[in-house]
Amino acid sequence: MPAVLRHLHYRTDADALVVSLDSDGSLSHQPAHDEPDGRAPKCRLCRFREMIDEVQESLRPRAGRGPIETAIGLAVPAIEAWCLVPSEHRVSENEWNLGLQGGKPPYTKEQLKIWTYGMSRPSLEEETRRIVEWVRRIVDEGKQPQLEKLFPSGFGTLARDVRAW
Ligand SMILES: [Zn+2]
Repeated sequence: MPAVLRHLHYRTDADALVVSLDSDGSLSHQPAHDEPDGRAPKCRLCRFREMIDEVQESLRPRAGRGPIETAIGLAVPAIEAWCLVPSEHRVSENEWNLGLQGGKPPYTKEQLKIWTYGMSRPSLEEETRRIVEWVRRIVDEGKQPQLEKLFPSGFGTLARDVRAW
């Protein structure tokens, strides 16, 4: 990712970089992590922000332009959970965290893939095609507020980053 950010900064006219990370088994990002000095070293999103800051500080200013804006999200446990917001499946950070606390995750990453793509190992092309379809559905059905409500930490953070540009 440092190389990607450097490339965007020096070699393109990109204004922004949006990244969504899968949390897998890592700690969920919490609103308290957004407070000054609140970053959590075990949180994947916080570590990623740290890395972005270090790279940004090492870059020479671009003539007439500010630094690349960034927005980072943490999908719990994977981005397919966000895609499934318009579906009948009960997916949310709360469902996931409650399940983990009870020692039984409410779904697996493989299950999310099957619900999202109709198969557990889609090709990259199929995965991309289906993800774009789900995102269009979220937009067409006006589900963005629900997405932010169901995933307040991981998606809410990304949305707040974008609004702050
Ligand atoms: Zn965090």
